[in-house]
Amino acid sequence: MKIRILGAHSSETEGQRMASLLVDGILALDAGGLTSSLSLLEQQKVRAILLTHHHFDHTRDLVTLGANGAVFPNPVDVYAFSHTLDIVNSCLLDGKMYADFSKWPSEEKPFLRLNAIEPFQRQNIQGYDVYPVPLQHAVPCLGFQVTSKDGKSLFYTGDTGPGLKECWQQVSPQLLMIEVSGINRSQDFLRSVGHLSAGLLKEELMQFRQIKGYLPRIIVIHIPPPFQKDVEQEVKEISRELGIDIDIGYEDMEITL
Ligand SMILES: [Zn+2]
Ligand SMILES: [Zn+2]
Repeated sequence: MKIRILGAHSSETEGQRMASLLVDGILALDAGGLTSSLSLLEQQKVRAILLTHHHFDHTRDLVTLGANGAVFPNPVDVYAFSHTLDIVNSCLLDGKMYADFSKWPSEEKPFLRLNAIEPFQRQNIQGYDVYPVPLQHAVPCLGFQVTSKDGKSLFYTGDTGPGLKECWQQVSPQLLMIEVSGINRSQDFLRSVGHLSAGLLKEELMQFRQIKGYLPRIIVIHIPPPFQKDVEQEVKEISRELGIDIDIGYEDMEITL
């Protein structure tokens, strides 16, 4: 399994894109930085997109992918909570700001095919075993454990705050891609809106180790560009305290499992 980070941030600047990962070139997790990072040919190869939740930094490029879709040979399947799809439909693909690519070129055969999924309903998507698990964000959010045919597995949280005990009981990934969305000083605010600081992440990882008896490889993403340096420093501190390596994800980083 080859994972490429398309966007490792919660906002964007030159060279920093919004939340999005690509597995083996065909399965995207979130769509915040999908089209800004991929050539037209690479975009054509994306066959399915899993959306963790509806926030703009995770869904935005559905619109620009749709706009390029006129020349693509295949439709793209989008999977998410029905709540997420409802908001994407009414706000992002509303047919007012731009074309509604979930009804284009026709309602019968749209370019973006929206598929509702439920937590804990395991399903095969493009040959991967996908297991959605609910997280602790301000709005309904699913994390995805994606397992390849040869048993390699990744768990991607999308956005989450603390309180992941039940989630950890459900998953056993080799790679955990998890968010840190601010600095320790803002910990109370981050907790209240369903995000993690490095300090909060440390507590969650301690719990993971206690429940599962191991820690997977960990990569931190969803970093706010204005706090990049501080988050890097604070993640370094918790990795020292936990006695493990924690990587900071960056755009176009490739990980092979
Ligand atoms: Zn986000
Ligand atoms: Zn969010």
